[in-house]
Amino acid sequence: MGMEHGAGLTLEDVTVSYPDGTAPVSGVDLALAPGEIVALLGASGSGKSTLLRGIAGLERVSAGRILLDGQDVTGVPTHRRGVGMVFQDGQLFPHRSVARNVAYGLESAKVPRAARQDRVAQMLELVDLAAFGDRPVQNLSGGQAQRVALARSLAPSPRVLLLDEPLSALDRDLRERLAADIRQILKATGTTAVHVTHDREEAAALADRVVRLHDDGSLTVV
Ligand code: ADP
Ligand code: MG
Repeated sequence: MGMEHGAGLTLEDVTVSYPDGTAPVSGVDLALAPGEIVALLGASGSGKSTLLRGIAGLERVSAGRILLDGQDVTGVPTHRRGVGMVFQDGQLFPHRSVARNVAYGLESAKVPRAARQDRVAQMLELVDLAAFGDRPVQNLSGGQAQRVALARSLAPSPRVLLLDEPLSALDRDLRERLAADIRQILKATGTTAVHVTHDREEAAALADRVVRLHDDGSLTVV
Protein backbone atom coordinates (compact mmCIF):
# COMPACT_ATOMS: atom_id res chain seq x y z
CA MET A 1 0.00 0.00 0.00
CA GLY A 2 3.02 2.31 -0.41
CA MET A 3 2.86 5.53 -2.40
CA GLU A 4 6.03 4.76 -4.34
CA HIS A 5 4.20 4.71 -7.63
CA GLY A 6 2.68 8.13 -7.16
CA ALA A 7 -0.86 8.94 -8.12
CA GLY A 8 -2.94 8.04 -11.14
CA LEU A 9 -3.35 4.49 -12.38
CA THR A 10 -0.58 1.89 -12.52
CA LEU A 11 -0.83 -1.59 -14.01
CA GLU A 12 2.08 -3.86 -13.12
CA ASP A 13 2.44 -7.07 -15.15
CA VAL A 14 -1.34 -7.54 -15.06
CA THR A 15 -2.98 -10.79 -16.17
CA VAL A 16 -6.79 -11.01 -16.30
CA SER A 17 -8.29 -14.50 -16.32
CA TYR A 18 -11.74 -15.99 -16.92
CA PRO A 19 -13.13 -18.92 -14.93
CA ASP A 20 -12.59 -21.17 -17.99
CA GLY A 21 -8.84 -20.61 -17.59
CA THR A 22 -8.31 -18.35 -20.58
CA ALA A 23 -6.34 -15.15 -20.00
CA PRO A 24 -6.90 -12.73 -22.89
CA VAL A 25 -4.81 -10.10 -21.12
CA SER A 26 -1.40 -11.06 -19.79
CA GLY A 27 1.65 -9.17 -18.59
CA VAL A 28 0.31 -5.66 -19.22
CA ASP A 29 2.30 -2.72 -17.88
CA LEU A 30 0.84 0.77 -18.07
CA ALA A 31 1.11 3.93 -15.97
CA LEU A 32 -1.15 6.96 -16.18
CA ALA A 33 -0.30 10.23 -14.46
CA PRO A 34 -3.11 11.90 -12.49
CA GLY A 35 -5.55 13.47 -14.92
CA GLU A 36 -3.99 11.73 -17.91
CA ILE A 37 -6.24 10.30 -20.64
CA VAL A 38 -4.99 7.19 -22.44
CA ALA A 39 -6.81 5.78 -25.45
CA LEU A 40 -6.62 2.01 -25.87
CA LEU A 41 -6.82 0.64 -29.41
CA GLY A 42 -6.85 -3.01 -30.42
CA ALA A 43 -8.53 -5.50 -32.72
CA SER A 44 -11.87 -6.97 -31.74
CA GLY A 45 -11.21 -9.77 -29.27
CA SER A 46 -7.76 -8.49 -28.27
CA GLY A 47 -8.91 -8.08 -24.66
CA LYS A 48 -9.69 -4.37 -24.34
CA SER A 49 -12.95 -4.89 -22.43
CA THR A 50 -11.35 -7.63 -20.37
CA LEU A 51 -8.57 -5.26 -19.30
CA LEU A 52 -11.05 -2.53 -18.30
CA ARG A 53 -13.13 -5.07 -16.36
CA GLY A 54 -9.98 -6.23 -14.60
CA ILE A 55 -9.13 -2.65 -13.60
CA ALA A 56 -12.71 -2.26 -12.30
CA GLY A 57 -12.52 -5.50 -10.33
CA LEU A 58 -15.24 -7.16 -12.42
CA GLU A 59 -12.90 -9.92 -13.68
CA ARG A 60 -10.14 -11.68 -11.80
CA VAL A 61 -6.61 -10.32 -11.90
CA SER A 62 -4.70 -13.61 -11.56
CA ALA A 63 -1.24 -12.04 -11.62
CA GLY A 64 0.25 -8.59 -11.22
CA ARG A 65 -1.00 -5.51 -9.38
CA ILE A 66 -3.30 -2.55 -9.97
CA LEU A 67 -2.62 0.69 -8.12
CA LEU A 68 -4.95 3.68 -7.90
CA ASP A 69 -3.50 6.89 -6.49
CA GLY A 70 -0.61 4.76 -5.26
CA GLN A 71 -2.84 2.31 -3.37
CA ASP A 72 -2.83 -1.39 -4.30
CA VAL A 73 -6.48 -2.13 -5.14
CA THR A 74 -5.92 -5.56 -6.72
CA GLY A 75 -7.91 -7.26 -3.94
CA VAL A 76 -10.39 -4.43 -3.32
CA PRO A 77 -14.02 -5.06 -4.35
CA THR A 78 -15.42 -3.02 -7.26
CA HIS A 79 -17.68 -0.77 -5.21
CA ARG A 80 -14.77 0.35 -3.03
CA ARG A 81 -12.26 1.03 -5.83
CA GLY A 82 -13.57 4.43 -6.86
CA VAL A 83 -13.77 3.37 -10.50
CA GLY A 84 -16.36 4.76 -12.92
CA MET A 85 -17.42 3.03 -16.13
CA VAL A 86 -19.19 4.12 -19.31
CA PHE A 87 -20.31 1.52 -21.86
CA GLN A 88 -21.22 1.58 -25.55
CA ASP A 89 -24.97 1.65 -24.92
CA GLY A 90 -24.89 3.83 -21.81
CA GLN A 91 -26.87 1.28 -19.78
CA LEU A 92 -29.03 3.97 -18.21
CA PHE A 93 -31.74 2.94 -15.76
CA PRO A 94 -34.89 3.10 -17.91
CA HIS A 95 -37.32 3.90 -15.11
CA ARG A 96 -35.32 6.77 -13.65
CA SER A 97 -35.29 10.36 -14.89
CA VAL A 98 -32.08 11.91 -16.21
CA ALA A 99 -31.40 13.52 -12.81
CA ARG A 100 -32.06 10.30 -10.91
CA ASN A 101 -29.71 8.39 -13.21
CA VAL A 102 -26.98 10.93 -12.44
CA ALA A 103 -27.84 10.69 -8.72
CA TYR A 104 -27.47 6.91 -8.64
CA GLY A 105 -23.86 6.63 -7.45
CA LEU A 106 -24.42 9.40 -4.92
CA GLU A 107 -27.42 7.55 -3.46
CA SER A 108 -25.30 4.39 -3.18
CA ALA A 109 -22.63 6.42 -1.38
CA LYS A 110 -25.34 7.83 0.97
CA VAL A 111 -24.59 11.42 0.03
CA PRO A 112 -27.20 13.63 1.82
CA ARG A 113 -30.07 14.85 -0.32
CA ALA A 114 -29.12 18.54 -0.58
CA ALA A 115 -25.51 17.81 -1.49
CA ARG A 116 -26.72 15.20 -3.96
CA GLN A 117 -29.04 17.65 -5.71
CA ASP A 118 -26.23 20.22 -5.95
CA ARG A 119 -23.87 17.67 -7.40
CA VAL A 120 -26.43 16.41 -9.92
CA ALA A 121 -27.10 19.98 -11.08
CA GLN A 122 -23.36 20.59 -11.40
CA MET A 123 -22.89 17.39 -13.42
CA LEU A 124 -25.81 18.14 -15.76
CA GLU A 125 -24.33 21.60 -16.34
CA LEU A 126 -20.98 20.00 -17.10
CA VAL A 127 -22.42 17.78 -19.84
CA ASP A 128 -24.64 20.60 -21.15
CA LEU A 129 -27.93 18.99 -20.13
CA ALA A 130 -28.93 21.42 -17.36
CA ALA A 131 -32.54 21.60 -18.55
CA PHE A 132 -32.95 17.82 -18.92
CA GLY A 133 -33.07 16.68 -15.30
CA ASP A 134 -36.75 15.77 -15.21
CA ARG A 135 -36.86 14.05 -18.60
CA PRO A 136 -37.33 10.31 -18.89
CA VAL A 137 -34.23 8.73 -20.40
CA GLN A 138 -36.18 6.86 -23.10
CA ASN A 139 -36.66 10.05 -25.11
CA LEU A 140 -32.99 11.01 -25.27
CA SER A 141 -30.93 10.89 -28.45
CA GLY A 142 -27.93 8.55 -28.51
CA GLY A 143 -25.52 11.42 -27.89
CA GLN A 144 -27.59 12.79 -25.02
CA ALA A 145 -27.83 9.35 -23.43
CA GLN A 146 -24.05 9.00 -23.51
CA ARG A 147 -23.64 12.41 -21.90
CA VAL A 148 -26.00 11.32 -19.10
CA ALA A 149 -23.95 8.14 -18.69
CA LEU A 150 -20.80 10.27 -18.46
CA ALA A 151 -22.40 12.59 -15.86
CA ARG A 152 -23.57 9.59 -13.85
CA SER A 153 -20.12 8.01 -13.82
CA LEU A 154 -18.36 11.27 -12.90
CA ALA A 155 -20.81 12.36 -10.17
CA PRO A 156 -19.11 10.33 -7.37
CA SER A 157 -15.66 11.71 -8.42
CA PRO A 158 -14.09 8.38 -9.45
CA ARG A 159 -10.33 7.94 -9.08
CA VAL A 160 -10.29 6.61 -12.62
CA LEU A 161 -12.90 6.56 -15.39
CA LEU A 162 -13.01 3.62 -17.79
CA LEU A 163 -14.81 4.21 -21.10
CA ASP A 164 -15.53 1.11 -23.19
CA GLU A 165 -16.27 2.28 -26.75
CA PRO A 166 -18.83 4.84 -25.52
CA LEU A 167 -19.07 6.48 -28.95
CA SER A 168 -19.10 3.41 -31.19
CA ALA A 169 -22.88 3.37 -31.67
CA LEU A 170 -23.02 7.02 -32.80
CA ASP A 171 -22.65 8.41 -36.31
CA ARG A 172 -19.36 9.94 -37.36
CA ASP A 173 -20.15 13.69 -36.95
CA LEU A 174 -21.58 13.21 -33.50
CA ARG A 175 -18.69 10.94 -32.54
CA GLU A 176 -16.14 13.64 -33.41
CA ARG A 177 -18.03 16.31 -31.51
CA LEU A 178 -18.58 14.13 -28.45
CA ALA A 179 -14.93 13.02 -28.44
CA ALA A 180 -13.92 16.69 -28.11
CA ASP A 181 -16.60 17.27 -25.45
CA ILE A 182 -15.50 14.25 -23.43
CA ARG A 183 -11.88 15.37 -23.51
CA GLN A 184 -12.89 18.83 -22.30
CA ILE A 185 -15.03 17.37 -19.50
CA LEU A 186 -12.32 14.97 -18.34
CA LYS A 187 -9.77 17.81 -18.33
CA ALA A 188 -12.16 20.17 -16.50
CA THR A 189 -12.63 17.55 -13.78
CA GLY A 190 -8.98 16.38 -13.76
CA THR A 191 -10.16 12.81 -14.28
CA THR A 192 -7.66 10.04 -15.02
CA ALA A 193 -9.20 7.94 -17.80
CA VAL A 194 -8.74 4.94 -20.09
CA HIS A 195 -10.83 5.25 -23.25
CA VAL A 196 -11.28 2.18 -25.46
CA THR A 197 -12.04 2.71 -29.13
CA HIS A 198 -11.29 1.08 -32.46
CA ASP A 199 -11.17 4.50 -34.18
CA ARG A 200 -7.65 5.95 -34.43
CA GLU A 201 -8.88 9.48 -35.12
CA GLU A 202 -11.20 9.39 -32.14
CA ALA A 203 -8.31 8.10 -30.01
CA ALA A 204 -6.02 10.91 -31.14
CA ALA A 205 -8.71 13.58 -30.63
CA LEU A 206 -9.65 12.45 -27.15
CA ALA A 207 -6.48 11.20 -25.49
CA ASP A 208 -3.14 12.54 -24.32
CA ARG A 209 -1.52 9.25 -25.35
CA VAL A 210 -2.60 6.33 -27.53
CA VAL A 211 -1.57 2.71 -26.90
CA ARG A 212 -2.44 -0.48 -28.74
CA LEU A 213 -3.25 -3.83 -27.11
CA HIS A 214 -1.94 -6.78 -29.12
CA ASP A 215 -3.19 -10.34 -29.20
CA ASP A 216 -0.22 -11.51 -27.10
CA GLY A 217 -1.23 -9.07 -24.35
CA SER A 218 1.56 -6.61 -25.00
CA LEU A 219 0.97 -2.85 -25.22
CA THR A 220 2.76 -0.53 -27.64
CA VAL A 221 2.65 3.26 -27.98
CA VAL A 222 0.93 4.31 -31.21
P1 ADP B 1 -12.31 -6.71 -27.00
O1 ADP B 1 -13.02 -5.87 -26.00
O2 ADP B 1 -10.92 -6.23 -27.30
O3 ADP B 1 -13.09 -6.90 -28.26
P2 ADP B 1 -12.78 -8.82 -25.06
O4 ADP B 1 -12.03 -8.38 -23.87
O5 ADP B 1 -14.25 -8.66 -25.06
O6 ADP B 1 -12.12 -8.15 -26.37
O7 ADP B 1 -12.48 -10.36 -25.29
C1 ADP B 1 -11.17 -10.87 -25.29
C2 ADP B 1 -11.23 -12.38 -25.36
O8 ADP B 1 -11.81 -12.88 -24.16
C3 ADP B 1 -12.09 -12.89 -26.51
O9 ADP B 1 -11.43 -14.01 -27.07
C4 ADP B 1 -13.37 -13.30 -25.83
O10 ADP B 1 -14.00 -14.35 -26.51
C5 ADP B 1 -12.87 -13.74 -24.45
N1 ADP B 1 -13.92 -13.62 -23.42
C6 ADP B 1 -14.71 -12.56 -23.18
N2 ADP B 1 -15.53 -12.79 -22.14
C7 ADP B 1 -15.26 -14.04 -21.71
C8 ADP B 1 -15.78 -14.89 -20.64
N3 ADP B 1 -16.74 -14.44 -19.83
N4 ADP B 1 -15.24 -16.11 -20.50
C9 ADP B 1 -14.25 -16.55 -21.32
N5 ADP B 1 -13.72 -15.82 -22.33
C10 ADP B 1 -14.22 -14.58 -22.53
MG1 MG C 1 -14.83 -4.82 -26.08
